[in-house]
Amino acid sequence: MYQVNWKNPYGDNRGYWLKGNLHTHTREGSPDGKVSFQEVAALYTNGGYTFLSFSEHLKLLSREVESPIMMIPGLEWNARTDLFPDIGPEKHVGLYSLDPGILQTCLQERTLCGLMQARRVKLQDSEGAMGTQQELGSRHIAILNHPNWAVLDNPIWNSTAHWSYEELAELASLVDGMEIFNGVILRLQGSPFALDKWDYLLSHGFKLLGFASDDFHESSDFGKGWVMVKTPEKSLEGIFKSLKEGAFYCSTGVGFSDIQRWGDIVTVKTTEPALIRGIGRFGKILYETEGVVASFPIEGEEYAYLRIEALGKDGSAAWTQPFFKGR
Ligand SMILES: [Zn+2]
Repeated sequence: MYQVNWKNPYGDNRGYWLKGNLHTHTREGSPDGKVSFQEVAALYTNGGYTFLSFSEHLKLLSREVESPIMMIPGLEWNARTDLFPDIGPEKHVGLYSLDPGILQTCLQERTLCGLMQARRVKLQDSEGAMGTQQELGSRHIAILNHPNWAVLDNPIWNSTAHWSYEELAELASLVDGMEIFNGVILRLQGSPFALDKWDYLLSHGFKLLGFASDDFHESSDFGKGWVMVKTPEKSLEGIFKSLKEGAFYCSTGVGFSDIQRWGDIVTVKTTEPALIRGIGRFGKILYETEGVVASFPIEGEEYAYLRIEALGKDGSAAWTQPFFKGR
């Protein structure tokens, strides 16, 4: 069973860093997808990506891509659901599993509830007893998408952000994480960033991972945001396990070549000179230094956390997962 080590999601220092985009739409799979799936696969392969997911709207696109890129089955849930009947009219959740049957069942039954409740059971059972539901919970990844997308000109939305603070808090314990950067929002209303909401949840004791993606719909969306997964095994299983366990960072350009924790000190190395910041509860900037290496202590109460961001000269950034206090 996969579990995030919230003291140090990156574990020991071995493994490859592999680049991937989990949020992609294609012409064959989504009404708003503009590029064919073969062209999309070629674009990401040539861009140095190792893995990709076609996360079509309420659809599992299973096509054979003519490319060495590794494909993670996925979809974007965008409909009302029994999970949040009062929240609507339409909410977007990225769902991924190496077992496409799990995603098909979800589509056929038009429900997210079974899938999500499985995770809640897992979280509540601290004894770690293995059951069918728990296994199910560990075989999918659920991500709350683009929290700060604003659809102000759509009369049925009547909302200033796709996910409000309250909605996120209600669902945070049911999902693996949330998008902290979503590239397509760069050309839509709202903000591609959701670091404010991530810090809000982390500061209230929710432990969830941050993801970055392109949310690719057309060629200009390519290469805006991605994840770098650290895995000792260059395989779909290895990548999925690292995503599930939080052994990855998010980027829009800058990179980390190393992320380590020793005792209560977190050390990062960047791939280029950057402004490196240590961020704590409610987004407070605790430390700041310029260069390619930084070491920051995790201080404060038991529920305190530290996450590190690196800001490049070109305005790009990279974000680690949070490291929680504890030994
Ligand atoms: Zn979406």
